[in-house]
Order: sequence, then structure tokens, then C-alpha cells
Amino acid sequence: MKRLLPLLLAGSLSAQSLQLVVNLRSGAIVFQEDCGQLLDRSIPAGSLFKIFLAYAALAEGSDPARTVFCPPSSPTLPVRDSCWFRAGHRNQDLVQALANSCDRYFMTLAERVPIDAFVAFLDSLDLVVQIPDTDHNHEYTAGESMVGLNPHWRFPPLKLLAAVAWLVYGRCVPGGNSLRILEEKFRAPLRRGLREAAVYGTAQGFQENLDFKVSGKTGTFVRVIPQLERSKLSGIFVGFFPDPEPEYCVLVFNAAGNGREQARAAGVRVRKLLAAGKIHIRR
Ligand SMILES: [Zn+2]
Repeated sequence: MKRLLPLLLAGSLSAQSLQLVVNLRSGAIVFQEDCGQLLDRSIPAGSLFKIFLAYAALAEGSDPARTVFCPPSSPTLPVRDSCWFRAGHRNQDLVQALANSCDRYFMTLAERVPIDAFVAFLDSLDLVVQIPDTDHNHEYTAGESMVGLNPHWRFPPLKLLAAVAWLVYGRCVPGGNSLRILEEKFRAPLRRGLREAAVYGTAQGFQENLDFKVSGKTGTFVRVIPQLERSKLSGIFVGFFPDPEPEYCVLVFNAAGNGREQARAAGVRVRKLLAAGKIHIRR
């Protein structure tokens, strides 16, 4: 049974979704659609963790130009021993690994960052890890938790959005006032990674819907429905626009559908808001 129960939610996230658009200058929420009162709850961050792990590793002295080889792998291998992309990403540096969300790259990065330091880093970004004391939680290694494979690590959506906006772009949104001062030089590869994700990586669906440059990061995780004894994919996406000086941030979470689909949904939502005159960007 081990590994077959990555996420037990008692069906609580089924048919639930959240879309948020925040003005990064004023901090105002300019659009909100919350099906399931998710704003008051905590959601898994999935591969958004890779952004935090990237910064933590850079702060530990990791070289962003160092490459890791991601070979082809069998679908029967667990992701922790391979990568979600079974054909293999080949050689990946930090920017490419962020763009492609390469699991193998980030599992090697996780070996360089002590879990206690990582949890303290998240805490300094107002992301307090509250891990439920369940048997299932103990199935995950420190590395798996740090790359976002442990769905028990959850955060309130607005705090998650605030932490990513602050970490990558130095933009403050509501609730982010007490965030620590970060090193500007470590932000540059994160920005490039999120931009390249929209160009050729997992966030292309966001870019395809918009005629100005954007950036973003997807996350996909497995949700098990015990009653049905099967699993489904859930997804999250955080996007910024316009690139490289974003004025808005969008977060989309959906219990049904992977991260790529949420990136596309975010693009459609932003396009509609622009057409309706609800948001405006400087060209
Ligand atoms: Zn890979």
C-alpha cells in the first residue's frame, strides 16, 4: 500500500477551484473566484516548492550553471527516483530545470539543502509548515518534501502567492509585510526560469493566451480518492505579467487537472479581465 496513498483528503478537495488576480502595486485583489472556500484553507504547493528550493540552494552556494543529466525513465519508477517527464530532459541547468520542472534536477539540489534550514527559510517567508502527524506523512523523505512531492505540506493560498511574489520579484502583497530581506542576485535565475517556463516549459499555456510577455510556474500533484480507490491529478499555477516588470500576479488552483491546464486557465482568465477593462497593463 505504500506510495498508493500520497494524499488523503476525505474527498475534501474534489470539484474545488480557486482563481485569484492581485495588483502587485496596490496589493488589491482585482479578481476572485473561490469554489470551495479555499481562501480560508490550505492547499498543496506542489512544484511551486522548486522555486523556494532553488533560492535556498543558491544561498547555500549552489552554481546555477551546473547541469544535471535527466535520462529517460520507466513509468513504473517513482518520480522521486526519476522525473515526471519520462522521455528525460537531458542536461538541465537551474533555469531550464525551473522552466521544465525537472524532478531529477531538484532532487539533486535537495541533497545540498538541510531540511531544517529549508523549513526555517519557508518560515521566514511566512510559510509555516504545519505537518499533520499521520502515518502517510512519514512516507516522504526530506528531499521529496522539498521538491513538492509531499502533499501534506500546505499553505493558505494568499500567503503562498505573497511568498512567491516576494521571493522572485521583490513585490509585496497583503500579508507579506514581515518578509525577510532577500539577495537580489539570487532572484535573477528564478526570474529567468519562470520566464522560460512560459516560453518553452510547463507554463506555455499561460503565454499562448496573451500577446505580451508573461512568466510563471506550474505544480501538479496526485490526489487520491479513497472511496473510488483511484487517483487524480490536481494542479496549481502562479503567473506574473507583464514580464519583466510584473504589475499583476495570478494564482489558479484546481482539484481536477494538472498544472499545465491551470496555466492555460490563468491565461484565459487574464485575457477576459483585460477585455472587460477590469485590469490594465502598460505596453
Ligand atoms: Zn527531468
